Amino acid sequence: MRKPFIAGNWKMNLDRAGAVALAKELAAAVPADGPVQVAICPPAVYLDAVREAIAGSAVELGAQNMYHEASGAFTGETSAAMLQDVGCQWVILGHSERRHVLGETDADINRKVHAALAAGLPPIVCVGETLDEREAGRTQEVVRSQCDGSLAGLTEEQMAKVVIAYEPVWAIGTGKVATPAQAEEVHNDLRKYFENRYNHALAEGVRIQYGGSVKPDNAKELLSQPNIDGALVGGAALKADSFLGIIAGA
Ligand code: PEP
Repeated sequence: MRKPFIAGNWKMNLDRAGAVALAKELAAAVPADGPVQVAICPPAVYLDAVREAIAGSAVELGAQNMYHEASGAFTGETSAAMLQDVGCQWVILGHSERRHVLGETDADINRKVHAALAAGLPPIVCVGETLDEREAGRTQEVVRSQCDGSLAGLTEEQMAKVVIAYEPVWAIGTGKVATPAQAEEVHNDLRKYFENRYNHALAEGVRIQYGGSVKPDNAKELLSQPNIDGALVGGAALKADSFLGIIAGA
């Protein structure tokens, strides 16, 4: 049984006071031992303040990115150990904005995935096709190739710790949500991919979140699909009532 996992990606939004206030509101509302696992991923500079705000609650803390090296002369970068030091339990890797705006490749993401797992920090690894790729009928090929590249070399034991987020690029921040059938088709194919690459037990255990304009009013239908195990939420994670509405939908 895969526990639904809803993660909020706050991206480069909010200020310190707003981040702390939102975190406190969520911490007070998310029940301990509830049926849904919940994480929030604030901007890196607010991780420490948000950790304090959610201390003792069921809300988990995640980062939006990291660098693959452990330490050294890498100006502006943050290591997995540093994220853990400020209380991170998750790190998002390979988000489409990092792939398409900041030029990250599958090879870059793969190095980060290995470094995160080596440090004991489980990653949420994002994959997803652009509109052109979908319209050219290349969704399956693109998503599988992103998995081949960004998850290269992972043992079964390592893969079991990874969460996948399927996020069609055309649905992120656009208000255009994939239909439950469109999303389920890709999730189902991803599960087959993991079955072929590893085995049935691994494939059945891997959690695959959907991301792309998830809102309280579409969450329930998306999350009731058999292979959709949660959501990675951008815009709707920036307000407590909409994020809590999505959690309720799960
Ligand atoms: C995201 O940032 O991962 C995302 C899915 O954003 P939005 O929910 O705003 O589409």
